[in-house]
Amino acid sequence: MGFNDFLGNTATVTHLRESVSAERFPHSMILAGPRGAGKYTLALMLAQTVNCLNPTESNGLPDFCGVCRNCTRIAEAANLDALVAAAVEAREDMRETDKRETRILVQTHPDVLVVPPDPPQLLIKLGQVRQAIHVAYYRPPIEARRAFTIFTSSAFMKEAANSLLKLLEEPPEHTSLILLTENPQELLPTIRSRAVIHRLGALPSEELEALLAERRPELRPQQRALAARLAQGAVGRALSLDLDAYLTSRNDALTILRTALGEPDDSTLFHATESYRAGADGQEKTVSLLRALGSLVEDLLLIVAGTPALIRNLDVEAELTRLAADLDVEWIDGAARSLVQVEQGMRRNLLRSLSLDAMAVGMERQGAGSRQ
Ligand SMILES: [Zn+2]
Repeated sequence: MGFNDFLGNTATVTHLRESVSAERFPHSMILAGPRGAGKYTLALMLAQTVNCLNPTESNGLPDFCGVCRNCTRIAEAANLDALVAAAVEAREDMRETDKRETRILVQTHPDVLVVPPDPPQLLIKLGQVRQAIHVAYYRPPIEARRAFTIFTSSAFMKEAANSLLKLLEEPPEHTSLILLTENPQELLPTIRSRAVIHRLGALPSEELEALLAERRPELRPQQRALAARLAQGAVGRALSLDLDAYLTSRNDALTILRTALGEPDDSTLFHATESYRAGADGQEKTVSLLRALGSLVEDLLLIVAGTPALIRNLDVEAELTRLAADLDVEWIDGAARSLVQVEQGMRRNLLRSLSLDAMAVGMERQGAGSRQ
């Protein structure tokens, strides 16, 4: 394990490794890039490189050994979803009064603090930032040369963002703050201006397909092409994408679209949305459906805009072209807006099924309007 395993974005990665060797690693840094581009992986690798007890080199640049006590404990934070789920579960078991006091934080190394968005709202909260501030100012690193605090999302509650700003205004001596974001515009301009921004770009589809051929030989060429498009240049997403699960969600998304576009089959629609009503996995399933629906709507826009070569859902191009035949940009815009509303509704924890049905009906009305 080392930087040879980090694929793509060589210029950015090289630049950051050079700043390690020059001992000019930034105090505050924003790592921006699409989901799955490797932002979190890179942040951990940098923390390892700065703090490795047997530092090595590769391609003339600093690298980490992956086996020393600092490297291994930092690496334990890699499985972030599982660690966050465990922390959330532990909090659920607490008494009400303790629950409110408990912040979701991940710390597998005493000097590396990972701050994820706190469910169910999936925002970073004031208490979490306060904890990060406390650690940064009042607890110098014990076992690391430089402490790291990694915020894994740029969705901050307002007071939390203001508090973070104070931290950036007076950067603590021995800590580097890394903010991960899909979209730097989500951060306050005052926060952006106080941190160095590094971007991880998307990899071209052909490169991802070649990588998939090597790493996921079980996929057929057509599946590889689809997976590469769906990953939108993100290596991690391409490698971990569950194609079957996506296709299941997309089937339901296509049913909603067909119904909305005047090929109504109410029993199928009911069936499609009915299965999203309840259950512990309801939220995850609904998010998958919304993402699938989003990718179909974007593809419709690309077809209407006359650039069908760019669509992601290559395998259903014929059907999408047919559905797009009498659509206009206005309808697609409306559909995209409905999707945003449903996602916002989910953040506010509204009844999922209710908003899904409302969206299907809302799209239908707009659909009917566009064909008059
Ligand atoms: Zn090491």
